[in-house]
Parts: sequence; C-alpha cells; structure tokens
Amino acid sequence: MIESQTSTFKLYPISVPTPGSLKTVNFYLLSTKNQLLLFDAGWTGDKYWHALNHTLHENQFELKDLTGIVLSHHHIDHCGLVDQIVAQHNIPVYAHKKAFPRLQRDEAFLKKRIQFFETLYNEFDCGERGEAQVNHLKRSLENNRHLAVEAGLSPIEEAPLEGLSVLHFPGHAPDQIGLWEDSTGVLLGADVLIQHISSNALIEPDEYGNRLPTLYQSVDSLKSIASLPVQLVYSGHGAVIHDPQALIKKRLNRIDQKGDKIISLIEKGASTGREIAQSYYGSTYDQQFSLVMSEIIGQLDYLETKGQIHKVMRNGVYRYSAAGL
Ligand SMILES: [Zn+2]
Repeated sequence: MIESQTSTFKLYPISVPTPGSLKTVNFYLLSTKNQLLLFDAGWTGDKYWHALNHTLHENQFELKDLTGIVLSHHHIDHCGLVDQIVAQHNIPVYAHKKAFPRLQRDEAFLKKRIQFFETLYNEFDCGERGEAQVNHLKRSLENNRHLAVEAGLSPIEEAPLEGLSVLHFPGHAPDQIGLWEDSTGVLLGADVLIQHISSNALIEPDEYGNRLPTLYQSVDSLKSIASLPVQLVYSGHGAVIHDPQALIKKRLNRIDQKGDKIISLIEKGASTGREIAQSYYGSTYDQQFSLVMSEIIGQLDYLETKGQIHKVMRNGVYRYSAAGL
C-alpha cells in the first residue's frame, strides 16, 4: 500500500510479471473516501485474476467491495478482466468516449478502420506488405469478435473520482486518460510514460476516418505532464517513475533524434514511406510492419507540421522531400 500524508486516496498496485519488453502489467486498486475503484483491469487469464484477488484479500477487501472500474485506454492489456469482474459483481465501467467503439469492437467502426489502413498503406507505398497487414486486420475482425467487452460502459466524466482529476493523453491511444492528484503531484499515467521503454504512438483514425497526428499528440501529452508539478508516475508497465521530468526530457530528445535521422534519410534519396521505413529499420520493416509504419508515419506527419519536410502525391503515393533542399 502506498499512502502519502495529504493524499485523498490509497493506492494498492497490482503488478503482474509478463514475458517480453513490457516486463509487468500494472493495474491499481484505488481506495477513496467512499469508493473502491479498479484503475485498469489487467490482461485476460488466471494469472491476472489471481493477482487481483490476492491484492484485494491481502488488504481486507473482497471483489464485492469494488464500486467501479476506470479504464485508462482500450488496449487489451488494460481491460482483460472487465467482463469477468462484472459478471460476478455488476459495477459501472468508465472509459473515455473514444474507447467505446474500440472496446465494443463496433463492426461499422472497425470496417471503416480497415479501409483507413488500406488507403494509408497504399499512400505510403507499402505494396504487398501493406496488403498482408490489411488481410490480417480483416481476419481479426472475424476472429476477435469474442474479445468485445460486453459490460456496459459509462463516460469517464461520470466516474466518482473524489478529488482526482481526469487528464486526456492521446498519442499511444486516442482514448488514453490518466488520473491526477494536484495536491501530491501523483499521476496514474498508464502508458503515457513508461520507465524502461518508450511508449509507441500508434497510428489510428478518428471517428470520421481521418488520420490522427499521433506522434504530435504524444509529444503534447508529455509536455502537458512536464508542465505539472508531477512527482510520481504510476505506469501501466514496469517500475514507478520517481523522476518523471528527466524521463520526459529523455523521451522528447529521442523523438527529435529520430526525426533528424529521418530527414537525413530523405536527403539521401529515400522518398516514399516504405523507402524511409526500410532504410531506417531494415528487416524490422517486414517483421514488425504495423509498429514500424506507425513510427515512420507519425514522424513524417510531425516533421511536416514543423515545416521540416514536404510531401507531394504522385500516382497515389506520397513522396517526401526535405524543406532545406
Ligand atoms: Zn499497455
């Protein structure tokens, strides 16, 4: 249990080790004056279910003491236990409005999203590799129906947070939020800032099918945290962050370094999204295609916003040039 002198809440972290670069999946019991909330709900599976129950019992709580679930964003490693909890104990589930169609796997929304990626990968010259990814998304539409969250969802504005404020941190996901306590400088930030890895800005369409400037949003989200008197950040993965200002500076510097490298690749002749991605990432382009293209397209949009590069469309494909040339 973590409790600071002036805090209006008590936090009970649930940290479950997981293989791979995430290290742990973290979610939190949050006890306020009148509520026992769960901030995020782990991944699906017994390991997470046992960890939740263990932390509840260890602190003299039961599942039926929970009064609500607050989701930081719609990704599967943050909402895995929602339906299992709600099936046994029917409590409200709060999330950002933009999370609803994603959590519910709304068919019309997902179909529009697949069309978005089809156009996107064509415009960025991704050819067969792009087609393979679109086919994967089409298969997932069918195969992942069972992952839809069935529990009713309530807008985050209605969550009884008693002294904590909700901050919107788009970038990693359009619906990502954090919980902030001004009096103590404590932030529950989910994936906006992670100690041991940089959080990916994942390309996503908005509800109208337009591309969100996700890297630009990530930078904005990090800068908005840096402008707060933030002391401690509890993340969705890995360790508690004790020096968030220094880590934010490091993450922002890294984003700028990557941008500089992309400009130099463009100056050397890489011109389409695929060419830039392949010269930056080599064979990782094929192996981690969607992550690589998110990174590259996010950077290209961001550099264009800053006036450092330009693009023209030729035969349906964007071609980039450096502004200095
Ligand atoms: Zn996560």
